[in-house]
Amino acid sequence: MNLDIEGRWALVCAASKGLGKASAKALVQEGANVVITARGREALAATAQELRQCNAAVQVVAVAGDITTNEGRAQALAAAPRIDILVNNAGGPPPGDFRSWSRDDWIAALDANMLTAIELIKATVDGMTERGFGRIVNITSGAVKAPIDVLGLSNGARSGLTGFIAGIARQKRIAERNVTINNLLPGLFDTDRLRQSTDAAAKAQGKRYDDAREAKRAAIPAGRFGSPDEFGAFCAFMCSARAGYLTGQNILLDGGAYPGTL
Ligand code: NAP
Repeated sequence: MNLDIEGRWALVCAASKGLGKASAKALVQEGANVVITARGREALAATAQELRQCNAAVQVVAVAGDITTNEGRAQALAAAPRIDILVNNAGGPPPGDFRSWSRDDWIAALDANMLTAIELIKATVDGMTERGFGRIVNITSGAVKAPIDVLGLSNGARSGLTGFIAGIARQKRIAERNVTINNLLPGLFDTDRLRQSTDAAAKAQGKRYDDAREAKRAAIPAGRFGSPDEFGAFCAFMCSARAGYLTGQNILLDGGAYPGTL
């Protein structure tokens, strides 16, 4: 299948590692130019180099900065001549007990996992509707469908984004202009984030890391963690011309872990 996104410009946020990197890689392999962001310069530069080697015909621009700040977003947006595809992503909030979270903790989580995506949509969606093509994918979490108790900051902030997206994706002046807005919900994917959260959970429960990881794996019907590349491929499809009739949806990629019928 030809995804028909050759020459498009994509902004993929938080993309030096993990799911963002894999999404950028899949877009590059399909011929899209990408702007990738992350705070750490070294890993970002290495990822940009790796992406260039995947497809010498596209432009890969690396913008180091914090995407949750006005400055970081402005620099990322200025790095492309236009944004046809926006993949919203940022680090997840820390786990903990809600009794210990301050207002500042909540504001940080809302900034990272709700308001940053909204600001970037605000900055790009009108250009997309004018040009008659746009794809926006927000990387959220399976925790939006099935909350994880220690990740209350994530459950709350991402649910806020999900409600906002449900409303704007269906605005006629967006949907009828071939601009789609969807959320992609990862279950457990084998990334640094999974390793860090497993390590934290193991320590909190007094378990060995390997035992905590094995317990997580065994609970997934597919019997394995997702690979970043399969996440990236799915994300690229949602960003493609082929996915033009999909909008306002929450797509869960979790190897069958969510137990509900719908
Ligand atoms: P990851 O492997 O830890 O990668 C996170 C990436 O985001 C890195 O490139 C990191 O680079 C960048 N980043 C973090 N904060 C940033 C910021 N403020 N500004 C710019 N870049 C930033 O994480 P992942 O597993 O790919 O997860 C991606 C998202 O999906 C997270 O929100 C995570 O909570 C969510 N999620 C993941 C899973 C999973 O199983 N992996 C499951 C559910 C939800 P720097 O640190 O250098 O900035």
